[in-house]
Amino acid sequence: MAKTALVISAHSADFVWRCGGAIALHASKGYEVSVICLSYGERGESAKLWKNEGMTLEKVKAARKVEAENAAKAIDVHDIQFFDLGDYPLEVDRDAKYRIVDVIRKVQPDFMLSHSKWDPYNTDHMYATQVALEARMIAQAWGHNPGEKVLGAPQLYLFEPHQTEQMEWKPDVFLDISPVWGKKWAAIQCMEGQEHLWHYYKNVAENRGNHFMRNSGGQSGGRKSTHAEGFQSVFPRTVDEL
Ligand SMILES: [Zn+2]
Repeated sequence: MAKTALVISAHSADFVWRCGGAIALHASKGYEVSVICLSYGERGESAKLWKNEGMTLEKVKAARKVEAENAAKAIDVHDIQFFDLGDYPLEVDRDAKYRIVDVIRKVQPDFMLSHSKWDPYNTDHMYATQVALEARMIAQAWGHNPGEKVLGAPQLYLFEPHQTEQMEWKPDVFLDISPVWGKKWAAIQCMEGQEHLWHYYKNVAENRGNHFMRNSGGQSGGRKSTHAEGFQSVFPRTVDEL
């Protein structure tokens, strides 16, 4: 059985900027990484498309879907699902939560990824994390659809938000994504509707690469990393050695 991971992304592009490297890297290690996009980001994260003449909600959604599918291919996503729950605001009812739980139970992820817990600029993001935690909890409940395989305790890693310092987000993990940076960069460039963010996130990855080296030994033997991603873990790790 292949190892697996699951990303819960509020909008269709978030998984690319924030954990595209983690996805490509784990895919290269044999993981099957699945992605749920709760919405397309059609209203709130598609400003460039809305500036074109004759745009409609359906046209924007279709364009964002194609972009996300192309990006997913570039970083070797195993499976991407679009829940089309609407954005600004994102709303997830009980049935939609159960659909997420179905995916979690089917995938049985070794780890999960979602947004920061706090994001006053984009409440869809922090709401997605709340929903991810709820769905994780429901998937662990023996009384939910008895007979199905119950979920273990996968870590939930919170990926890096925009304007990091305002989000009460503090990384405790740096992942070296240097070997797959080319793939992430290709995926970023699939997001034509948000071209203004491309170089911003290239910069973030380069700075985190510097932090990777500092934390892996600095000048006295730190491992070089050209690009990295930061994550904040929600749950403690269970270890036999420190
Ligand atoms: Zn977003």
